[in-house]
Amino acid sequence: MRQIAIIGAGQAGLQLALGLQHHGYQVTLVADRTPEQVESGRVMSTQALFHDACETERQLGLNFWDGLCPPIEGIAFSVPHPELAGQKAVAFEAQLNDPAYSIDQRVKFAHWQRTFAERGGQVMTEQADVDTAERLSVTHDLVLVATGKGDLGRIFARDESRSPYNAPQRHLALAYFKGVRPRPGHSAVSFNLIPGVGEVFLMPGLTRTGDGAWLPYENVLIEAVPGGPLDVFGDVGDSGEQVRRMLSLMATFTPWEYDRVKDAELTDPVGTLVGRVTPQVRRPVATLPSGRPVLGLGDALVVNDPLTGQGAGSAARAAAVYLERILWQRERPFDRSWMHDTFEDYWGYARYVTQWTNALLAPPPPHVLGVLDAAQRHPSLAHAFVNGFNHPPQFFPWLTSPQEAVTFMTRHGAPSPAVHA
Ligand SMILES: Cc1cc2nc3c(=O)[nH]c(=O)nc-3n(C[C@H](O)[C@H](O)[C@H](O)COP(=O)(O)OP(=O)(O)OC[C@H]3O[C@@H](n4cnc5c(N)ncnc54)[C@H](O)[C@@H]3O)c2cc1C
Repeated sequence: MRQIAIIGAGQAGLQLALGLQHHGYQVTLVADRTPEQVESGRVMSTQALFHDACETERQLGLNFWDGLCPPIEGIAFSVPHPELAGQKAVAFEAQLNDPAYSIDQRVKFAHWQRTFAERGGQVMTEQADVDTAERLSVTHDLVLVATGKGDLGRIFARDESRSPYNAPQRHLALAYFKGVRPRPGHSAVSFNLIPGVGEVFLMPGLTRTGDGAWLPYENVLIEAVPGGPLDVFGDVGDSGEQVRRMLSLMATFTPWEYDRVKDAELTDPVGTLVGRVTPQVRRPVATLPSGRPVLGLGDALVVNDPLTGQGAGSAARAAAVYLERILWQRERPFDRSWMHDTFEDYWGYARYVTQWTNALLAPPPPHVLGVLDAAQRHPSLAHAFVNGFNHPPQFFPWLTSPQEAVTFMTRHGAPSPAVHA
């Protein structure tokens, strides 16, 4: 049986490790934290997983929280009115064909890591570096680096042709709240887009209290355009101050969300996060000093801004693609060409996620505004837009082509803007 090492115990690394274990492989997993440290650590993400990504977990029996986690049944999209305070310029919502779920990654990763160890997997707890990869490459047939946004990912060269941005496009503030008033109707990702200023997101999730009880909660994520009016978290001192600033911004820019959150409390003292992400794509194969190759996986290679809520879902998909490719390879070598092909197989999907997410970071062009406007009056269009979050290739070709946007709108019963005018 072939030996495989995975560095990084997050969405991609753990899912692939458990998947390979499921198929009888010997896997060594390198984690920089124990499950206890992950559980008691700071929150990491809003981690909403749309249906297709959830299915990759279900196929491996890793969906331990399906009956417990509050479903995210739809997406409600709003653009605040630029002049009329408290009013919306654009508002539509639609249900997802199948719900999305957000399970606090602290809960998920800790449980998955324990499950992997209980099933006989070998876990090394250390902050891995190039020497670690080098040592593992001597004793393993394949070494994968799935360290997310961690420094080790820098061993993979940036792919300039696939990386239009070289700096963060948003500054982020995240908080986990309990006691948030549910939105009317079905549950949803509330997606508030404030053109030129940033975004405010709310979505339900599931976490656990310190004494082990399940706790449904609401993620609140503010994404600030750098230098703009939401960008006030750079010098934030503590979580209380962060929450006060978040509430104050919501009262100003999205008062309908402020009303839901104003009486809520943090789920726990480390239920907040501030940060920023440089969206970028890296080359999939790095060469260790010995000359042996290692393959990257997940955010270590493709990291997008969280505003489309796709990173964990893409990591899950990457894990599923890599698993299938490793199984197909049987006893053949995991050489560079196999590594490149494996990543390109995944990139065939991830490139749409990347292109769509990068497009949303820029002000929307008129044809996209036309689709959003028409979605308010045409439920079929709203439904198609919302369900694109489960499968971002569906946003193409209309997202990049005004002509295709007209075709897309017409297909969903919306007269094109010219006819409408
Ligand atoms: C604010 C925010 C909100 C988000 N919201 C969503 C969302 O709603 N939906 C969604 O799909 N995605 C979302 N994402 C993105 C998502 O969380 C990530 O894309 C996803 O977790 C990436 O999975 P990964 O396995 O590649 O990396 P991670 O899940 O980050 O795992 C990497 C692991 O490697 C470990 N590690 C790092 N360096 C080392 C080292 N040297 N040695 C050993 N271990 C190491 C890390 O500690 C971590 O455990 C969000 C991200 C942020 C920041």
